Amino acid sequence: MLFNKSISQIHDMLVNREISATELTKYYLKRINHYDKQLQSFIHLDEDKALEYALKAEQMFADNSYTPLTGIPVGMKDLFVTKDMPTTCGSKMLKGYMSPFNSTLVERFLSAGGVMVGKNNMDEFAMGSSNETSYYGECRNPWNTEYVPGGSSGGSASCVAARIATASIGTDTGGSIRQPASFCGVTGIKPTYGRISRYGMVAFASSLDQAGPIAPSAEDCAILLNHLSGFDKMDSTSSRMEKPDFTSGLNKSLEGLTIGIPEEFFSDQLDKRCAALIDEAKKELTALGAQFRSIHLPNLKYSVATYYVIAPCEASSNLSRFDGVRYGHRSEQSETLEEMYVNSRTEGFGEEVKRRIIVGTFALSSGYYDDYYQKAQKIRQVIRNDYLTAFRDVDVILCPSTPGTAFKIGEKIDDPISMYLADIFTISANLAGLPALSMPIGFIDELPYGLQLVGDRFCEKQLLQVAHQYQQVTQWHNKHPEEFGEIA
Ligand code: GLN
Repeated sequence: MLFNKSISQIHDMLVNREISATELTKYYLKRINHYDKQLQSFIHLDEDKALEYALKAEQMFADNSYTPLTGIPVGMKDLFVTKDMPTTCGSKMLKGYMSPFNSTLVERFLSAGGVMVGKNNMDEFAMGSSNETSYYGECRNPWNTEYVPGGSSGGSASCVAARIATASIGTDTGGSIRQPASFCGVTGIKPTYGRISRYGMVAFASSLDQAGPIAPSAEDCAILLNHLSGFDKMDSTSSRMEKPDFTSGLNKSLEGLTIGIPEEFFSDQLDKRCAALIDEAKKELTALGAQFRSIHLPNLKYSVATYYVIAPCEASSNLSRFDGVRYGHRSEQSETLEEMYVNSRTEGFGEEVKRRIIVGTFALSSGYYDDYYQKAQKIRQVIRNDYLTAFRDVDVILCPSTPGTAFKIGEKIDDPISMYLADIFTISANLAGLPALSMPIGFIDELPYGLQLVGDRFCEKQLLQVAHQYQQVTQWHNKHPEEFGEIA
């Protein structure tokens, strides 16, 4: 089945002229057209543009300037600005918005010859854990369409799980790559903060946002990372750290590697069936040569509270640019300038976004700034120190990606706190700026479940190596939902 081939297998087929980039793109467009009505994993599909990119890819094969990404059809979360396609960020506020430029990530992807097929559904302004806050309709989990795909990069994870795109690029501010990857049974990595340029990513919480790939396997993610990461002078927080070849080292044995198990993450609160799957995965890793050591991250219990001060504060500031004047929705009901600001924002933003703006504005207001924002920044440092201390003794940290498998659509949407807790295991890596990956390790009641690996700063290669070695001896990453089979 073509749709279950890895990026490197497809690449070989393209190089050997077994299939052309145009044929491949048409094949995926057909799958999207056939299956995406059920999933709503794309907000915008652009067949003409996709075929244009495919033609450019064919040219690159013809003149031998191709890369491992050339001709590969990929989805793009709808918060990377794109010159050729609208960028909505899942919001009414940006309905129909056309950016005058491409984000750096998109630019790099396209110059490597990648085929962007469309823009993926997401929670509004990347705020959410279920993709239900999208103005363009909720996206669904292909393993069971009554369940959420996770969020905010829900469309990205859903389209990859259904194999209607080979991969997708998402973003992760508090877990939005890893949590949907876990819910949809795919692999996703949030790199170290600064690894991938944020230029042209619609900002949510600037000190936490980081883009990264979602794909079936760690190897696919490594190939994508090679082309997306690296210094960018347009992003002042972009790292000058040398970019390694993320695919080299994938085949290195795990012999001698020490993996830390944070006691705090394996309390009685973790679902027994999740704990059992993690134990199985640990056995596989032990057989591959890894050693385990128990560690403590005592301040991680403050992560969610800390995040829900810092992220809304930064969001309230970032979202102040949407005023009805410069970008996006402008209310037509207004008599005065003041009314125009208020009405444009009232009409353009959804409920969750407004909640964040109110919390953030409150916490940043004079008199409260020291009590909330500054205090949260201090705790953030303490959490980071916990990790740095742990990495003196271990190479990688292993923990759950999520407290359980996907939940039902509608189950948590009226209960923000329980929604926020869906990210309890992922948020600390963003606060500490560390790379972290989620990979599928099994099923509970026919829904997939993921394991998280957290690494030291700029040690993405080690995470990819562990995941790749695991995926060499297991098949979870190759599982795909039967209903989304080959189209006759
Ligand atoms: N679910 C978290 C939130 O709602 C994280 C979102 C994200 O990583 N973009 O803020």
